Amino acid sequence: MKEPREKLGSRVKIVDMLHSPARTRAVGELLIGQRGTVAEILRSGTLALVELDADWADLPGGVRRWPVQWDDLLIYSLESGPDSPEDDYRLGLSGSGRDAIQHAVPADTENSLCGGEVYPLPICGWSISFSPTATRACEICATLVRGQTGP
Ligand SMILES: [Zn+2]
Repeated sequence: MKEPREKLGSRVKIVDMLHSPARTRAVGELLIGQRGTVAEILRSGTLALVELDADWADLPGGVRRWPVQWDDLLIYSLESGPDSPEDDYRLGLSGSGRDAIQHAVPADTENSLCGGEVYPLPICGWSISFSPTATRACEICATLVRGQTGP
């Protein structure tokens, strides 16, 4: 069985109303057939908090998020593939010319992950993403980025 955490963001359809909490079952007829996204994992993984796609006005009580037991859900896709955290880091340089080292710079700062002072690529500014596999990648930054990506 998949880790419940991995189902976060999954696209789901409510297909049944047998196992969900009473509060949800009470409006089950209105919820069955609705599609939505798993917004949260509840009760140590036994329930999904489903955020429905439907218009506010069409939702029972105007409530968009409902706790639904997994058995009542059809999981049909992931909203998006696994995020790649590497894209969150921009490329910053230290040193100069051919010896310049590439560092990972988190958005909205101008300091690299390893704490060094860096500057953006003169031509492209901060728009380039850091790649931990680049030859000139700073080892500390690469390790930190990979550490956040997980094994
Ligand atoms: Zn670095």
